Amino acid sequence: MALTLTKWPANLMDNSALLSILKARFGYDSFRGNQGKVIANVLAGRDSLVLMPTGGGKSLCYQLPAMAFDGVTLVISPLIALMKDQVDALNANGIAARFINSALSSSEMEQTLSEVRQGQVKLLYAAPERLILPGFRRYLRNLDLSLIAIDEAHCISEWGHEFRPDYRNLRQLREDFPSVPVIALTATATEQVREDIIAQLDLQQGQVFLSSFNRANLSYSVQPKSSSSELLTAMLQRLGGQSAIVYCFSRQETEDVAEDLNRQGLAAKPYHAGLDPETRRRTQENFAQGTVPIIVATVAFGMGVDKPDIRLVAHYSLPKSLESYYQETGRAGRDGLPSECVLFYAYADKAKQDYFINQIEDPSERRNARQKLAKMVEFAELPTCRRRFILEYFGESWEDENCGACDKCVRLEEPFDATEIAQKVLSAVIRTGERFGANHVIQVLIGSRAKRVLELGHDQLSVYGLAKDFGQTQLRDIMGQLQARGLLSRSNGEYPTLTVTDDGREFLRQRLTLSLSQPNATPAKPSRANSPPDTECDEGLFEELRSLRRTLAEARNVAAFVVFNDASLRRMASVFPRNVEEFSRIPGVGKAKLEQYGPEFLETICNYAEANGIPHRTDSAPPEARLREEQGEKDREPAERRRGATYEATEELLSGKLPIGVIAQQRGLAETTVIGHIERLADAGVALDLAHLLPDGERLNRMAEAFEVCGSSFLKPAWEFLGSEFDYNELRLARIYLRQEGRLPDG
Ligand code: ADP
Ligand code: ZN
Repeated sequence: MALTLTKWPANLMDNSALLSILKARFGYDSFRGNQGKVIANVLAGRDSLVLMPTGGGKSLCYQLPAMAFDGVTLVISPLIALMKDQVDALNANGIAARFINSALSSSEMEQTLSEVRQGQVKLLYAAPERLILPGFRRYLRNLDLSLIAIDEAHCISEWGHEFRPDYRNLRQLREDFPSVPVIALTATATEQVREDIIAQLDLQQGQVFLSSFNRANLSYSVQPKSSSSELLTAMLQRLGGQSAIVYCFSRQETEDVAEDLNRQGLAAKPYHAGLDPETRRRTQENFAQGTVPIIVATVAFGMGVDKPDIRLVAHYSLPKSLESYYQETGRAGRDGLPSECVLFYAYADKAKQDYFINQIEDPSERRNARQKLAKMVEFAELPTCRRRFILEYFGESWEDENCGACDKCVRLEEPFDATEIAQKVLSAVIRTGERFGANHVIQVLIGSRAKRVLELGHDQLSVYGLAKDFGQTQLRDIMGQLQARGLLSRSNGEYPTLTVTDDGREFLRQRLTLSLSQPNATPAKPSRANSPPDTECDEGLFEELRSLRRTLAEARNVAAFVVFNDASLRRMASVFPRNVEEFSRIPGVGKAKLEQYGPEFLETICNYAEANGIPHRTDSAPPEARLREEQGEKDREPAERRRGATYEATEELLSGKLPIGVIAQQRGLAETTVIGHIERLADAGVALDLAHLLPDGERLNRMAEAFEVCGSSFLKPAWEFLGSEFDYNELRLARIYLRQEGRLPDG
C-alpha cells in the first residue's frame, strides 16, 4: 500500500492517496456521503461543522485526516466508556490512539502524556472537563496540534437534550489555538442546536456539511400497548441472540419487564440510575461484548452506548418528544444493516409524561414540553408515513409516496365498510362542538362515565355510546384513517383538537359510502426495501463468525465490534474468502486486522466451507448464485466432485425417510447444512421425496400463502409475515417442496 504518501503535506494529498490510506488503515474502498468533502475541507486547514445521522460515518471525518497530518489530533468526547471503545477500535486498525481521563492511574497517565509528547500518537481523546486544568492547557500548548475534533458537539448547547456545562470550556481551547482547524460533529437534527454550536464555537467562517437525517436502514412501527407483552417476546425471540434495547418509563418498569422476559427464556438485564455503579458497568460491558443481548433500560442508558449492531429498539412507553424518540431509536443499526424500531403505544401513557410536565415551573418551558409531547402523540397516532413525519419535523422534506419501511407504508389492507362508523365519528366531533381532542370524542362514543364527559353533559348527546362495539384503539385508528382521507382535521399545538373538514361534511350530507382498512389488522412487517443487498448470507457461517468474534473480543477485553462489525461478518459469510488476498478485500479489513485476525477467521471459514461442501470460487458472487451457475457447468472440478459426494450421502439418508435431525447427527453436520444440501439437490433437479419432513396441511398452506404475498427469493419477508411460530428451517423445507410442486411463481 502506498502509505509513504502520508509524508506529503496534508493539503496536497490527492484523492488516490487518501483512498489508499482509507483501505490500508480502515479497510474501506470508498467514502460515504459527505466524508470525502469534509476530509478535503479539514485537510485544507478550514473549520467544519458536520451534521450526519448516527451511523453516517462521522468518526472517519477526523480519523483519516489525523493520519494525514504530521502532528496530533485532539478529540474531545463526552464519555469515558465511548473513549475506550473508539481508542480500542483505532488500535485494532494499527493506529496509535490514546485517551486520558479519570479512569487512568497516575502512572498510565504519565506514560500516555509522554508518548504523546514524543509524537508517537496520532489521536488523543480527552473529556471536556480536563480542558480547564491549567497544567493540561500548558501541556497542550507544547504539543504539535494539527486538528481539534469535537465529537457530540450538541453537548455544548443548552437547547440540546444532553447539555454538558463542561463543553463551554471549548471556547477557551479555541482561544488557545486560534490557527488549529476545528471539526465539530453531531447527529442532532434540530436547527436551534446547530445554530447554537456555530455561535458557541465561533465557527462562522467554517463550512457546514449537512446530510439527510433519514435512517434508511431503520424501519418504524407503532403497536398497541395492550399486546406489547406477546409481541415484544416474539420480536426478541426472532432476533436469535442479536442485540436489543427496550426503553421503559420507570426503574420499576425496567425490572418488571426484564423479569418477564427472563421467565420467557430471554437473557435480559435491567439498567437504570438506581442500580449500583458496578452492576451498571458490568451490564454495559456484557452488552457491548454481546454476552447479554437484551437491555431493558430507562433513558439513562444511552449516551454510553455505541454498539453498532443493535437490531431492535423497542419503546415500552411513550417518549417525551420526537427528538428523544429519534435519538433513542437512532441507536439501532449504526452499522447500516436493517434494524427495527417499535413503539408500544397506549394513550394512557401520555398521562405519565403529563405528570412530569406539570412539575415544570417555568410557564414557557412547560408549554414547550407540552407541545413536544403533543407531537409525539401525533406520531403515535399517525395515519400516514412515519418516516416522512419524523423528517418533516426536523425540517427535511421527503418526496417518496411510500417509504417502504414503516407500518403505514407497508400496511396489510383488509378493507371493511366503514360508512356507518365514519358517520358516527364525524357526528360526534360535530356534536361536541369541534373543540376536543381524539380522546374526549372517543370517551363520548364509547359511552364513558368519565367525570369530564358528565360535567360537560356529553352523556346527553345523541352520539353518546354509539360506538360501544369498538375498542378505543380501534377508534383511534379509524380517526387516523379519516384524517388521512381528509375528512377529519387535527390542529397543531399543545392540545390538538379535531374538526370536520368540508369533505367530511359533504360525506355526511350526501350519505356517501366509505371503505377503510380494518383497524388493527395485523400490520405487515416493514419490508426490507432499504436494506443493503448483501445482508443475505450463510446464516450458519455468520453464527460461527459471531461466536469467534465474541471469543476474541472477550480475550482482549474489547467490545465485539472492535474486532469486526456485522457488515464485515455478513460479507465474509456471503463471499467465503479462502485466502489472505480474498480476505483483504472484505470491507473493514485493513492491514492491521488482516494480520491480527485474518488467520483465525480464514480457518473458520475454510473449515465451514469444507464441512458443507462449498466449493472455492475466486469471484465474489454470493454462494447461492455461484451454485446455480455451477449446476450449468459440464465438467466438474475435483472439489466439486467432493461436493457431489457429500450431497449424495445426504440424499441417500433422505430417501431412507429419516428426519433432518437424525441425518444431521449421522453426518456430523448442522441441520441447516443438511437442509442446504437438500435445497441444492432440488435446484439441480433431483426428485426428492420430502413428504415425511413436512408439517400438516394447514401449516403448509399458511407458509405457501406467506410466500405468495412476500415472494420466495428470500426467506426473511415470509418469516416475518408469519410471526415467530415458524422457524427458518421449516420455511426452507416448505419452500423446496412448494417449488418442486410448482406452487411458487418466482421459485
Ligand atoms: P457515527 O459516528 O456517524 O455514528 P461511525 O463513525 O461510528 O458513525 O460509523 C458507522 C459505521 O459505518 C461504522 O461501522 C463504520 O466502520 C462504518 N463506516 C464508516 N465509514 C465507512 C466507509 N467509508 N465505508 C464503509 N463503512 C464505513
Ligand atoms: Zn413510511
